[in-house]
Amino acid sequence: MILDGKAVSAKIIEDLKTELARKGTTPHLAVILVGDDPASRVYVRNKKKKAEYIGIKADIFEYPADVEETVILKKIDELNENPEVTAILVQMPLPEHISKEKVICRISPEKDVDCFTPENAGRLAIGMEPYFYPATPQGVLMLLDAYGIPIEGKHAVVIGRSNIVGKPMAQMLLRRNATVTMCHSKTQNLEEIIKTADIVVSAVGKKIVRCKMVKNKPVIIDVGIYRDSNGNLTGDVEYAEVEPLAGYITPVPGGVGPMTIASLMFNIVKS
Ligand code: NAP
Repeated sequence: MILDGKAVSAKIIEDLKTELARKGTTPHLAVILVGDDPASRVYVRNKKKKAEYIGIKADIFEYPADVEETVILKKIDELNENPEVTAILVQMPLPEHISKEKVICRISPEKDVDCFTPENAGRLAIGMEPYFYPATPQGVLMLLDAYGIPIEGKHAVVIGRSNIVGKPMAQMLLRRNATVTMCHSKTQNLEEIIKTADIVVSAVGKKIVRCKMVKNKPVIIDVGIYRDSNGNLTGDVEYAEVEPLAGYITPVPGGVGPMTIASLMFNIVKS
């Protein structure tokens, strides 16, 4: 069965819009964008468009690639202190001369809707409630929940250990009482591990999950998204071959991508 992230996210977006209209409140998102990376510009534009559709006020603060680090840090301080701003996003990647760590640490955890700050990531790690859960893993769980897929007691295999997807995904599955195995580029016997999974979440950025690895109809969540040699958007899973062997599977595009946006909007509304 295909997990239709596009349809589930559309429903979440409509519910958020209704919720804001009913409450009569307007969250305020501030996005910091540095440099002229075309992909980053598209992401930021899409976030602003979606936010405004829901009824969120969204401002983009743009800076040239050679902006000084102190200027960005000062802007974050200003946004932290502004009581009208409820949510802050800093679009990654940043130019090399700007310390990603310094920038992340500067954001107020209470406005950190990406869950990038050490406070929120730490809270997640030690089982405390973070102010916000990270968008992509939260979006994955929203999708599983929308289809009533059980998590407790299941063996979940997470491939990839980035701070934004793999690590928090594993922690959030653990919170939901899954038995979690984390895999990465040095993992041995990846194929044998995947064969034992009830749930596979792949967040790598290249073809990893092939049909010979898939046994017992697992749930397959493909977080990866990149362009293949023909310029087509694709994911980590060999979709055509794996789909008949999976219990549930997300397509790329139309799976985790739209769920990430919906989940981020959920966080901004919560802010
Ligand atoms: P990342 O920082 O690019 O790291 C990739 C991870 O994959 C690393 O942990 C790496 O292991 C692991 N890896 C690399 N080769 C491997 C192999 N052969 N076997 C097992 N693991 C391997 O990760 P990311 O930022 O989470 O991004 C991953 C993918 O998800 C990308 O395609 C990205 O575009 C996509 N993404 C999609 C969404 C969405 O909303 N759909 C959101 C975020 C990211 P090591 O740690 O050992 O190097």
